[in-house]
Amino acid sequence: MFYDFHIHSCLSPCSNNDMTPNNIAQMAKIKGLDYIAICDHNSLRQQPAFKIACNQVGIKMMYGVEIQTSEEVHVCAYFLEMNDCNLFQEWIDKKTNPIKNNESFFGEQNLCNEFDEVIGKEEYLLINSLNASLNETIDVVHCFHGKVVLAHVLDRVNSVTHQLGFIPQDCKFDGLEVKNLNQMITVKQKHPWIQETTWFINSDAHQLIDISEPENAMSSKEFELFWGKTV
Ligand SMILES: [Zn+2]
Ligand SMILES: [Zn+2]
Repeated sequence: MFYDFHIHSCLSPCSNNDMTPNNIAQMAKIKGLDYIAICDHNSLRQQPAFKIACNQVGIKMMYGVEIQTSEEVHVCAYFLEMNDCNLFQEWIDKKTNPIKNNESFFGEQNLCNEFDEVIGKEEYLLINSLNASLNETIDVVHCFHGKVVLAHVLDRVNSVTHQLGFIPQDCKFDGLEVKNLNQMITVKQKHPWIQETTWFINSDAHQLIDISEPENAMSSKEFELFWGKTV
């Protein structure tokens, strides 16, 4: 199956306003993707509308969010059940620094319904760090039956290797996101202890045109290994 599991909707301030749930689902369908996820910064509130949009076009989705930890490391967390999403959102709310968004500077944080109508705006700036460490975040995601993928691990901004200098051996991640296969080789060379993990190449798209083409594929078996169960 062709996938893209790291797409930002218009809820992320840095994303285009036309990154609405239906536009994303339809663009992914047009591009020939089979399975997608929206990972907005520090919020899962766009997920219910996105679920409906994906159902309508007949494309699979899992629930996602890109958390910024107190070390300023980006991690993508994924869930299969809405109830787990809601519980994790409650935890995010408790760990959020209540700094109001200046939308003329950072951008709008638009929340949509299933018809792509803007029904609200996220009040607090979503591109801040939560008051939670990387290890705490991973533990809580696991507690709510989710999986953790360290995001864009070789990027110069907000990656685990940039913020910490390396990937800690005690970090209980479930997968790693890279930009291409060369990056995967580099990560393995620098961290020989990393052998068995799930590798993802996602777009991190902030505009519709950047959503992945059908070029990153994963077998159903690989996906089930990632989840540790039949999905
Ligand atoms: Zn990121
Ligand atoms: Zn991102």
